[in-house]
Amino acid sequence: MGTQYHIRIPRIADHKTPSISAKQLQHEVDTLLVSINQEMSTYLVDSTISRFNQLQSLDWFPVSQNFLHVIISAQVISKSSQGAFDITVMPLVNLWGFGTTKLGRIPEQEKINLVLETTGYQSLQTQLHPPAIRKLKPELSIDLSAIAKGYAVDAVTLLLKKQKFKHFLIEIGGEVRVQGKNKHNKQWRIAIEKPETVNRTVQQGLTLNNIAVATSGDYRNYYEKDGQHYSHTINPNTGKPIHHKLASVTVLNESAMIADAQATALMVLGEKKGKIYAQQQKLKVYMIFREGNHFLIWHNVNNEVLLLGK
Ligand code: ADP
Ligand code: MG
Repeated sequence: MGTQYHIRIPRIADHKTPSISAKQLQHEVDTLLVSINQEMSTYLVDSTISRFNQLQSLDWFPVSQNFLHVIISAQVISKSSQGAFDITVMPLVNLWGFGTTKLGRIPEQEKINLVLETTGYQSLQTQLHPPAIRKLKPELSIDLSAIAKGYAVDAVTLLLKKQKFKHFLIEIGGEVRVQGKNKHNKQWRIAIEKPETVNRTVQQGLTLNNIAVATSGDYRNYYEKDGQHYSHTINPNTGKPIHHKLASVTVLNESAMIADAQATALMVLGEKKGKIYAQQQKLKVYMIFREGNHFLIWHNVNNEVLLLGK
């Protein structure tokens, strides 16, 4: 996934001696993550997703139950967000130089229009029995970068629960899941970063209970050209990187996969539509807007989740 992961399992009183050593557990986690990569990574030429992307045929392409589950979840969020979230943006991501090849140049409008014709989640179909997906356009290709990390966090959560661990924190590329308590036998605390490109400081601390948290932002993965800021999040409707006051969105959810994808959807929707969408979808969100040199906050998380002071 082109990123790193961290897992913390504190030793606290009601943790019985685990039946598995740290080394064995690490091996199981690595095996799981490698198998997810083997299906969902566009960086591996022989992954399931890469083989589907290379395919020119419109025939059904068999996939695993889990892979189909991720695709269907992505499609549901595409529909609900009216296409703000769209896993078929891959050719646009590449056109803007955020894919496997980094370009750093601004494409012409004509080129954008041409590429837009090859995208659209409506051109991707799913089938349950047997699990399969198919393209309605030969050029269609998919990119799970905005949902796969969240899915992997959920998968590791299940693995740790199966091993009877009750207290842990999992983080993959910034998407987090906490369970039980930390080593001080208190609720886990995590911080939302201030959306600044240079400094890494805390905007808001959260104290969390058995939940996943994902943040999407325009301040880490971007480039600048002629004084303009180009973010790696693409508006699938315009074919261009997003450009608005919303600097970061954090979503709290039972599922890290849903939190991950919805954070990207909200990032695309922006300030006004994002707030309405969060309400409609009953999403717990913490949004940070840029206003001149200041940041403005809008959130609907319960006050007891917010840590006050430093
Ligand atoms: P963030 O943490 O900012 O959400 P992610 O890595 O989760 O970043 O997702 C961003 C990646 O998702 C991009 O690099 C691109 O590959 C892909 N992407 C960009 N725009 C969209 C979109 N509108 N819908 C789905 N995926 C997108
Ligand atoms: Mg995301």
